[in-house]
Amino acid sequence: MNRLVVMKFGGTSVEDATAILRTASIVAGRVRKGSQPVVVVSAMAKVTDLLISAATTAARGDRAGALGITERLRIRHRDTAAQLASAAPAHPETDGASGQGAIAATHAWIDAEFDSLDEILRGLAAVGELTPRISDMVVSWGERLSSRMIAEAFAGAGLSAIHVDARQCIVTDAQHGRAIPQDGAIEQRLRQHVLPHLGIGLVPVMGGFIGATEQGVTTTLGRGGSDFTAALVGGGIDAGAIEIWTDVNGIMTADPRVCPDALRVKTISFEEAAELAYFGAKVLHPATILPAVKKNIPVFVLNSRNPENGGTRITALAAHCRSPFKSIAVKKRLTIMDVVASRMLLSHGYLRAIFEVFDRHQCPVDMVSTSEVSVSLSVDSNEKLPVIAADLSKLADVKYEGRKALVCMVGENIRGQNGIAARVFQAIRHVNVRMISQGASEINMSFMIEEDDAEEAVRSLHAEFFSDPDPAIFDVEAVRQNASK
Ligand code: ADP
Ligand code: ASP
Ligand code: MG
Repeated sequence: MNRLVVMKFGGTSVEDATAILRTASIVAGRVRKGSQPVVVVSAMAKVTDLLISAATTAARGDRAGALGITERLRIRHRDTAAQLASAAPAHPETDGASGQGAIAATHAWIDAEFDSLDEILRGLAAVGELTPRISDMVVSWGERLSSRMIAEAFAGAGLSAIHVDARQCIVTDAQHGRAIPQDGAIEQRLRQHVLPHLGIGLVPVMGGFIGATEQGVTTTLGRGGSDFTAALVGGGIDAGAIEIWTDVNGIMTADPRVCPDALRVKTISFEEAAELAYFGAKVLHPATILPAVKKNIPVFVLNSRNPENGGTRITALAAHCRSPFKSIAVKKRLTIMDVVASRMLLSHGYLRAIFEVFDRHQCPVDMVSTSEVSVSLSVDSNEKLPVIAADLSKLADVKYEGRKALVCMVGENIRGQNGIAARVFQAIRHVNVRMISQGASEINMSFMIEEDDAEEAVRSLHAEFFSDPDPAIFDVEAVRQNASK
């Protein structure tokens, strides 16, 4: 039996000392049951956002503002480390009964880390230009700090844990901000830096999200990228399972923050989960699934605040389900671009010319719909849009409008079922639908609406499709228990 398991804990699962100790006990539980975990951790909750704002603040020339942010982060990490060290049973031979020695040593390395970070921010304030390379460098501190601190906390909690610098293992290209991992090199580095620890019964703990080029320059895998790291490590060491531990009971039928009635989906296929992630379900990073699919490794999404809960199992094939959809995702902050070209009507090469503009600006397009003279495209709202519109206006008339949301309904069972579109649009009949797409993947039906209508639309769709859930797929027990409370 394959006992290797990659356990990834997200920002909220390591947000403070209490959460980190909870994480330690979850990992210890797995070890007791005979698993060999490799642990991947995110930065503590909100730290990545704060590091990004420290970097942009510094680049604006506001040195004091940037250093103020890192000072607060320094205090938060020092305080958490102190709480963790005092929670650990003392080792009289090494530190004296109080554990003060351990706290001082931890504070010393945390201070050294923040001193070097501040050094970079001072340089950034002087130069006034934030390159993607420096941005990756600055944000990497989140996972560098959390992983080392958590490895120490695990050791304090009695686990034989060892810190591994993710940058030694996750080899990527040099596309800063969204670097592409190099599978072959990663596998080889994992054999070198992770497998030997497992061989002698240690629990490696590494940061997610960060990597480095072959030359050792720090890179990142894109926001939410710790899930991706978990899948890369799982694929690279041929793990028996990958567990994504987060702050909800699993993949739900909708974002529970938007729809409080959301139900846990007990099993979902790789394809459905990938579609959901791509279309905005933040619970999993869009690229996570691929390395696991390639090797047929089961992925579980579990709740670190409720570890006994069964979570969601992501499987190769979709289980049969009575309802057409498994879940509803929403992607906000989108813009619709309408390109209207009476001049170039039906001319061949026209669509290519349009897409080349998006390609040149490295701007991915989510949805497309065409008519005889016009093409509508939806893209993430970003600062390049005016330049893209200017380039497109050489080909055609261009209009664009922001504050749009894409609602995406996902399920294997929409293939070949009649009347589903009618039910969907009946449920949201009061909402102005701007673009519709069905069929690109056969498992999703999506449409674009005003951002302000998104939450209401999700709740109406949820009521329409999940009021009589199939107990084989959805956690209806939880609904009954809540109702009887
Ligand atoms: P982590 O820090 O553990 O990576 P994230 O914040 O990235 O956690 O993802 C978990 C969050 O994803 C949940 O708190 C939830 O609000 C959101 N979410 C969005 N869509 C879904 C969904 N369909 N199922 C579960 N959670 C979802
Ligand atoms: N800390 C990174 C982020 O906030 C990566 C992650 O948590 O997955 O985007
Ligand atoms: Mg995440």
